[in-house]
Amino acid sequence: MASNGYRNGTGTNKGAIKPPASSNIRSSSFKSRLPPSSNHSTGSALRRTSSASFTTAAGGDGVPGRVRVAVRLRPRNAEESTADADFADCVELQPELKRLKLRKNNWESETYEFDEVLTEFASQKRVYEVVAKPVVESVLDGYNGTVMAYGQTGTGKTFTLGRLGEEDTSARGIMVRSMEEILANVSPETDSISVSYLQLYMETIQDLLDPANDNISIVEDPRTGDVSLPGATHVEIKDEPSFLELLRLGEAHRIAANTKLNTESSRSHAILMVHVKRSVLGEEVAIPSESDKSSHFVKPPKPLVRKSKLVLVDLAGSERVQKSGSEGHMLEEAKSINLSLSALGKCINALAENSAHVPIRDSKLTRLLRDSFGGTARTSLIVTIGPSPRHRGETASTILFGQRAMKVENMLRIKEEFDYKSLARRLEIQLDKLIAENERQQKAFDDEVERINLEAQNRVSEVERNFTDALEKERLKCQMEYMESVKKLEEKMIENQRKHQHDGFMKDKCNWEGPGFSEDIAEVKKLLEKEIQMRKEAEKEVNKLKSQLGQHMDAGAGGDAEILKLQIALEDEVHQKKKLEEEIIILRSQMLQLTFEADQMRRCLARGGSGNAYPGLDSPMSQVRDSLSGHKTPVSALFDQVGVQKILDLLESEDANVRIHAVKVVANLAAEEANQERIVEAGGLTSLLMLLRSYEDETVRRVAAGAIANLAMNEANQELIMVQGGISLLSTTASDAEDPQTLRMVAGAIANLCGNDKLQATLRSEGGIKALLGMVRCRHPDVLSQVARGIANFAKCESRASTNGIRSGRSLLIDEGALPWIVQNANNDAAPIRRHIELALCHLAQHEANAKDMINGGALWELVRITRDCSREDIRSLARRTLNSSLLFRSEMRRLRIEL
Ligand code: ADP
Ligand code: MG
Repeated sequence: MASNGYRNGTGTNKGAIKPPASSNIRSSSFKSRLPPSSNHSTGSALRRTSSASFTTAAGGDGVPGRVRVAVRLRPRNAEESTADADFADCVELQPELKRLKLRKNNWESETYEFDEVLTEFASQKRVYEVVAKPVVESVLDGYNGTVMAYGQTGTGKTFTLGRLGEEDTSARGIMVRSMEEILANVSPETDSISVSYLQLYMETIQDLLDPANDNISIVEDPRTGDVSLPGATHVEIKDEPSFLELLRLGEAHRIAANTKLNTESSRSHAILMVHVKRSVLGEEVAIPSESDKSSHFVKPPKPLVRKSKLVLVDLAGSERVQKSGSEGHMLEEAKSINLSLSALGKCINALAENSAHVPIRDSKLTRLLRDSFGGTARTSLIVTIGPSPRHRGETASTILFGQRAMKVENMLRIKEEFDYKSLARRLEIQLDKLIAENERQQKAFDDEVERINLEAQNRVSEVERNFTDALEKERLKCQMEYMESVKKLEEKMIENQRKHQHDGFMKDKCNWEGPGFSEDIAEVKKLLEKEIQMRKEAEKEVNKLKSQLGQHMDAGAGGDAEILKLQIALEDEVHQKKKLEEEIIILRSQMLQLTFEADQMRRCLARGGSGNAYPGLDSPMSQVRDSLSGHKTPVSALFDQVGVQKILDLLESEDANVRIHAVKVVANLAAEEANQERIVEAGGLTSLLMLLRSYEDETVRRVAAGAIANLAMNEANQELIMVQGGISLLSTTASDAEDPQTLRMVAGAIANLCGNDKLQATLRSEGGIKALLGMVRCRHPDVLSQVARGIANFAKCESRASTNGIRSGRSLLIDEGALPWIVQNANNDAAPIRRHIELALCHLAQHEANAKDMINGGALWELVRITRDCSREDIRSLARRTLNSSLLFRSEMRRLRIEL
């Protein structure tokens, strides 16, 4: 029991009895150094101290704890009972006073005090409780502990420590009882126990659990000073039988080893190490919150792990040391007998005398026990003595060893550390929980997004459907009404003609001038107004639908992709609407043409019907009539029925409005490839060029340039345009015009010409390239895009010609100074411009003749950029191929350390 633990001794002097010089020192030093509570109930005091100071014990100061020493007297054995029958024992014990008297002779004795004095009648249980139990309890609390037996061979060291008590449980020694106590106090879920069993003989450590392992080295942690034997076998202990088995095995190996070494167990040290690892939770720490001093945030307890060690040492017989000295042996011989034991004595002396140097490193035993004496462990020493007066000398020296050991002061320190593994495990579990939760939430979020998207999609499609239906209805209505009005007009005209034939031309001419004809005109005007009105209404409807769509789009916010889709659909609708509007414009233009023709007719009639101001005008008129009555598509019908020539004639009309409308009709027709040939055959190109030449109106010029650009798509027309001086006309327009749309048309026309292999030289000599480059002054991206396209076309033709060996030398584009602009715009934000220029650069780079200028002009960097950044794979690889096939580029890249 802990309460029966050692009491602090006090020195005594009795009459003539001379106590050892150490007694006084010992008693006074204990009182001043030990905390009062630890004097009487060491084990429980330590428990209180340790549990109350987790944080300081782990890293801070320890608790003072002196080495406790008990003396145990062995009963006389049979031999002694006979041999020493007439003699008294050499010692006399006063256990109640914890004193021992060592007889010098019949009348003189010396008295010594110990922490415990155990008579020959002391039971093994009592010995365990007073000597080992406090140490075992400390070990369970996280401190290292040592129980060591010292004494002459045959005095009961092994009896005290190592008896297994297999037949008689009361005979169990300290080893078995310690393990019983440890097993009873640990929890298998959180704690673990492992054991090593070793023998130290002649400075060699042998593993008693694995005899092959016969030279184990000691490892010291340079940081903590902790000693360990990594080479030793560690056996995990779960229950007592397995421990007993292990002790038996160790003992068997010990006997075998000693037989082999031709020695005996009394000359070797047996060391049993019990490693106890326990997981505990630190204290909760309350942290006061900043706002309110009274409320506390409680930090959860830290997981801690305590790794303590119980070392049980059954030393070799102490008589060896004494004999080696008393019998005059040389020190070296003594060392060879048992260096470790004498080194232990020296260390204990040094520690007892507070000497500056403790020769710990002199032997393996002292190195192993560095924590037990003068270290952080709780240590109990039991010194065993025999009663025989024949061994008085050895008994005296054993007693003196015990007395000196009592003066050794340890600083007990808990072996506790932060349990990173357990914390990591806990955090991992927590993390897994959070991950699972996050995944659940993400899934729910995704589902919700999908649901919203679906809803938005449905709404958008509904709006789209409504919008398309409404638009289609509106378009049909417009068409029908238009047809209706044209039909009415037609009928009226036929009616008028019939009237005219019937009544005679002269007689009824006034009818043409009179209200009848004016009515027709008024009717046409009314129809036109109606058309305009209808268009306005259609626009209104479209706007309404647009705003509705906008609202729906707002409602469905969140589904970006859906909105984008919707926007595209909307743009489609707007585009269709534009087309409708364009159709309406064409209708208007035709109306105006009709008005115009009717006016002509009226004037002709007014002149007497014989004159024809515009030859052939009659016939287009009638053909137009035919076309209208045939309900054909307006423009095509007009084109088919009226004949291209008549329409082209209108280009030269005196009336500016007519010219404008006519040029628009021609431009519209030229937009369709099927019509182009007929227009050119009929001299349309010449007329259009003429319009460009006699510039009078921006619209005419723009539309004419557009029509020329359309015609210039065709290769045959391109040559025709050149022949007719089109290039210089386009160049003049390019330098005069300000309107970006006009410039776009002109640039488009030249760009088309640039794509013709045969025209390269002429194009340049007639200033086409200069004109093209000049248009970049207008920064409009549409214009720039056409310029870039022209350059790309030109470069491509040149490249083709060079490859075919038709041309050599530097690019005309470079001659014309195009390179700086090309380089500047190679990375233009607008994709079409960038794309054309990237292609142009690749074409230019294909010819070594251009390489030098391109390198000097910075084009190499752009080409390198294209190989890396261009979004189109084919252009990227074209650029890479081109660069790799040029010697000059390659050497420049090497110089600049550029790698593709
Ligand atoms: P040591 O290990 O010190 O050499 P042992 O433990 O082997 O001594 O003891 C020697 C003999 O004395 C053994 O036969 C042992 O049983 C006996 N013996 C030792 N101590 C006691 C004791 N306290 N009571 C009875 N017998 C004892
Ligand atoms: Mg022994």
